[in-house]
Amino acid sequence: MIYPIHVYGSPVLHKVSEPVTEFDDDLKQLVQDMYETTEEAPGVGLAAPQIGLDKAMFVWIYDDHDGPERGVAINPTLLIEPIDTQEPDKYEDAEGCLSFPGYPFPLRRSPYAVLRAQDENGEWYELEAEGWFARILQHEYDHLQGRVFVDRLHGKTAKRVAQIMKAEKWGVPGIEWTPGEDSPYEADE
Ligand code: ZN
Repeated sequence: MIYPIHVYGSPVLHKVSEPVTEFDDDLKQLVQDMYETTEEAPGVGLAAPQIGLDKAMFVWIYDDHDGPERGVAINPTLLIEPIDTQEPDKYEDAEGCLSFPGYPFPLRRSPYAVLRAQDENGEWYELEAEGWFARILQHEYDHLQGRVFVDRLHGKTAKRVAQIMKAEKWGVPGIEWTPGEDSPYEADE
């Protein structure tokens, strides 16, 4: 099943997610549905709050690295290196979000991260990530802390974000889009 994606302003996107406690068949189905939704969007990662669920879990689908091409992180912790204060590169550091669709912004992230999480069976695992994969993990982990990547921007770009929210009428509850049905990436007028 493909879930509708909540847009910035949906309350569940702006709170710390609740831990997952039941590792049952419903959870396994949810993981499959999150993969399916990510593929259809298309995206490289999806956190449960983005589909309106208050659960500390996210998935990724990303094959351009040494690690697993897809995976789920449930009740994760993420260790990162201190982030440098360099100006982000307009292209190399451009990050986007399905909950702020169509507006990527450059953002510096740690080039390295260590993820510790449970899989859909409740088994704990640990993995190391570099480069873009490390970025994906940081982005998705942020969602579970109630942070959307645009919340990390400041100065001129933060101003631009505020303008976009006003123009798109985002920042309020109840705005969603469904992958495969409506594309927020095309102007509708
Ligand atoms: Zn996101």
